[in-house]
Amino acid sequence: MVALSAGALAAQTAVTPPSNSYTPARDVELGQKAAREMRAQLPMLPDEEIRSYVEGVGRRLVNAIPSSFRHPEFRYTFDVVNVREINASALPGGPMFVNRGMIEAAKTEGEIAGVMAHEISHVVLRHGTAQASKATPYEVGSVLGQIAGAIIGGGWGQVVSGASQFGFGTAFLRFSREFEKQADIEGTHIMAAAGYDPRDMANVFRAIEQESGPGGPQWLSDHPNPGNRVEYITQEAKQLRVERPVTDTRAFEQVQASLKRLPRAPTTEEAVKNSQRTSGGATTGGSRSRPTGRVEAPSTRFKTYSEGHLFEISVPSNWREWSSSNTVTFAPENAYGEGVFTLGIELGLARNESHDLQGATDELVQSLARQNPGLGRPAGYDPITIDGLRGLKTSLSNTSDGSRERIAVFSTMLRNGNLFYAVAVAPEDQYGSYRAVFDRVVASLRLNE
Ligand SMILES: [Zn+2]
Repeated sequence: MVALSAGALAAQTAVTPPSNSYTPARDVELGQKAAREMRAQLPMLPDEEIRSYVEGVGRRLVNAIPSSFRHPEFRYTFDVVNVREINASALPGGPMFVNRGMIEAAKTEGEIAGVMAHEISHVVLRHGTAQASKATPYEVGSVLGQIAGAIIGGGWGQVVSGASQFGFGTAFLRFSREFEKQADIEGTHIMAAAGYDPRDMANVFRAIEQESGPGGPQWLSDHPNPGNRVEYITQEAKQLRVERPVTDTRAFEQVQASLKRLPRAPTTEEAVKNSQRTSGGATTGGSRSRPTGRVEAPSTRFKTYSEGHLFEISVPSNWREWSSSNTVTFAPENAYGEGVFTLGIELGLARNESHDLQGATDELVQSLARQNPGLGRPAGYDPITIDGLRGLKTSLSNTSDGSRERIAVFSTMLRNGNLFYAVAVAPEDQYGSYRAVFDRVVASLRLNE
């Protein structure tokens, strides 16, 4: 008897959701907030035929989620983003965004379903908040911020949070290889139960790996290949029976034809720039436009702020604290707009691959340069100490909207391998008078490692 039931069931690899100290309701809350940001900043494709087609594929997959992984709070929604890169993104609690470029690149509906099933699996297994649960107190703000910054499965997070001038921070969160493999395996189960051949997931991942455009590498950097991805997906697929296979390809073909009739989709970067341009002025697009108005000179009196478990810092008493989704900035009035500041200091935490101070600082600078096309190369690295730790001060220049800026990046490597950084910015012609202020602010840092 035992052998019989084992024969029927044991072939399918069991997936156990990772431990998670957040409630499903918190997933929903974080995901909804990030989804609002995405919809505000990226162009959603208004074409109802294409959107409802993608929603149809999504609903079919959602209906195939095993009952043990269903969360009654979750609300699955499906938007098509009118951008060119091959990418898709699912947020905690269910909002999903599929790039038009992904649909255009797919050779079959099964390939679209493959990417979406992988994304849905991250959602049902609650990988975003599980990642936050695993983080040290030091990382939690950053991880949650990155979720709120639309990072899960993202590639957009970077663009969304760091759209112009200075602002960034979401470039470093990637799912672990363990979570990636779970999403692949669970994705094959959902696909088979929804009527799709799970081998189409292997096919689409292989195609993305061969894609040389910007979207291919971006998807892969958010969803790193745990190794032998195509092989283990193919292996798992052999153990699964596809329920009521989807064989009708007409809707897929119609959608492909409709897409060809549309003007070519912009890149994500172009789309974000356009949305800033058209949002115009301080009233509607205020939070994203370059701040204007008179900026007071820094007070010589300093005020101390305590950032939860993270750090303590003292800044001129007439500077304010401005929190964005995953960084904290101290700047005077009229020098800060969300994600954009012209004078002040921004602090954050960055994951890195190198775990070497200069290498990690260079990675950070490169990520800044991707979002700030006017950024020059480092003019020098000076050794400093930050709260007793070995640090670096890296100087750069930047041109933003025709204004010249000087930038100093202060960085140190924490024991957990993350890079703690402070980016100080001032207009070129005023930098001389701010240099000592920035140095004093950095000298006041107390890191609670
Ligand atoms: Zn993934």
